Amino acid sequence: MKTPKYIFIVGGVMSGVGKGIASASIAKILQAKGYETTAIKIDPYVNVDAGTMNPTEHGEVFVLDDGMECDQDMGNYERFLNKNLSSANYMTTGSVYLSLIQKERALQFGGKNVEVVPHVPLEVIGKINKAAEKEKAEIAIIEIGGTVGEYQNILFLEAVRMLKIKSPQDVVLGLVSYLPQQGDAGELKTKPTQYAVRTLNSAGLQPDLVLARAGVSLDEKRKEKIAFNCNIDENAVISAPDVESIYEVPLNFERDKLSEIILKKLNLKPKKKDLKEWAALVKKIHSAKTPVKIGIVGKYFSTGKFVLADSYISVIEAIKHAAYTQNRKPEIHWLNADDFESSAAELRGLKREITRKNKTGLRKDFSELEQYDGVIIPGGFGSRGIEGKIAVISHLRENKIPFLGLCYGMQLATIEYARNKAGMEGAHTTEVDKKTKYPVIDILPEQKKNLTEKNFGATMRLGAYPAIVKPGSIAYGAYRGTAWEVKDKKLRDKYGAGPKDLLIFERHRHRYEVNPLYIDNLIDSGLVYSGISPDQRLMEILELPKKIHPFFAATQFHPELKSRPLDPHPLFKEFIKAAMK
Ligand code: GLN
Repeated sequence: MKTPKYIFIVGGVMSGVGKGIASASIAKILQAKGYETTAIKIDPYVNVDAGTMNPTEHGEVFVLDDGMECDQDMGNYERFLNKNLSSANYMTTGSVYLSLIQKERALQFGGKNVEVVPHVPLEVIGKINKAAEKEKAEIAIIEIGGTVGEYQNILFLEAVRMLKIKSPQDVVLGLVSYLPQQGDAGELKTKPTQYAVRTLNSAGLQPDLVLARAGVSLDEKRKEKIAFNCNIDENAVISAPDVESIYEVPLNFERDKLSEIILKKLNLKPKKKDLKEWAALVKKIHSAKTPVKIGIVGKYFSTGKFVLADSYISVIEAIKHAAYTQNRKPEIHWLNADDFESSAAELRGLKREITRKNKTGLRKDFSELEQYDGVIIPGGFGSRGIEGKIAVISHLRENKIPFLGLCYGMQLATIEYARNKAGMEGAHTTEVDKKTKYPVIDILPEQKKNLTEKNFGATMRLGAYPAIVKPGSIAYGAYRGTAWEVKDKKLRDKYGAGPKDLLIFERHRHRYEVNPLYIDNLIDSGLVYSGISPDQRLMEILELPKKIHPFFAATQFHPELKSRPLDPHPLFKEFIKAAMK
């Protein structure tokens, strides 16, 4: 097996310093030097994947084509590299131990003692090499989660040490560190970064690069200080100030000639290629002045005094991508579904619920929604905020405000329509109300088994599935002629796409579906299912005809997961266009 060159990225001083964006940006600038690059994420936790963690623990769960439920940084890698990655590019302590133990049980060690060192780090290296081979990558960027100095990522650092000792010319280690600032205009402090480097030293590692994250740019004096105290070339101390848009970071890195420095360390020469398209995107981001106001009605999770909106990263990015292509400045507003709950109860005349809900939530007037150019109801789970979201959808439908529903958003749009337009009072999803008279959203039989057997890990409907899009619909107009439309005849035949149909592949993550028993009734009442699964069992896209509503569309899949800055998702694009009117 031909092994790649390795660039490891670790974080110092504190978590959340932007290792993910730094790794994605390094992958981008090396791709722009003509190298086949791939990016790999290592999460130090014992969970085998991110699928079983709740949003307060983990933020958004990103899903890859092959169904891997992983960290949101994988989304950043895909967005920056503009390519689809696979589960080979993601590992956790849990998944490393799992495969190692499976090998041991299958006698693959031939009776030898299997030890934490070297076998765990060797398993890590094996996984990295496999991912690089799969992607035919010449350079692999590997982000090690966590912060140096904590116990949990030490075996991954040991893998770096083992590789570096064997072939130093093939490995670059970069430390993304944070420089706190004293007061508003005070000096940037380098001491915490120096300690982080010492900590790496004590793990047998010397970083080659320091990416200095701070509120502002690094001055020469600070660069010198870090270089001198941490044994690093002065030109390899890179300034990484806060930026308005994450997409600026690759350009900033190149201002400090980062790709040149890395290629030199790896004994590689730049090939022909450039960052022109990317630079044009950043220019567009800065020149967009007219705002487009989008509301996201979601659930907000708090830890202590802080509220996290982290679970909707891909939705936010997809809105931005689409807005930039239309030369609009995306203005995203957070609307808490809980705040609409008591107003929703009031609408339904439920007195008891109103007083109960009022204790916790604010009462929001639905007319507030009219100040937005468009509203998104994103994915979610469980019962919190559900009635608020359903009532919001009613208001958007009746007042012809552009609406885009994503996954749970589509299920709730179905419920709203069933209740208010198809005469099914009390219609619901069995996820929330097991005894509803009209279970318009229900679980598939194969999923029921997973739940009764408590088989929760990686058992949702996950990853990319085909769907047939019917002509004459909003979705058809959106997808037609884009990179999303699958033209390959073999695939079209395989999935029975008619001569006029479009075939698309989109990523899923859910257990529940529109219940086939009620589809005819809903369609007869005017709802359009414009995207369906090839076996016609599953409803994938819902919409209302344009003559009834300017833009009312929702998807059972998550279009946001495949949107890219250089290739925005067609449905988001259509939604933004409608919002601009
Ligand atoms: N809770 C819903 C389901 O499991 C929707 C999931 C989602 O929005 N990702 O089907």
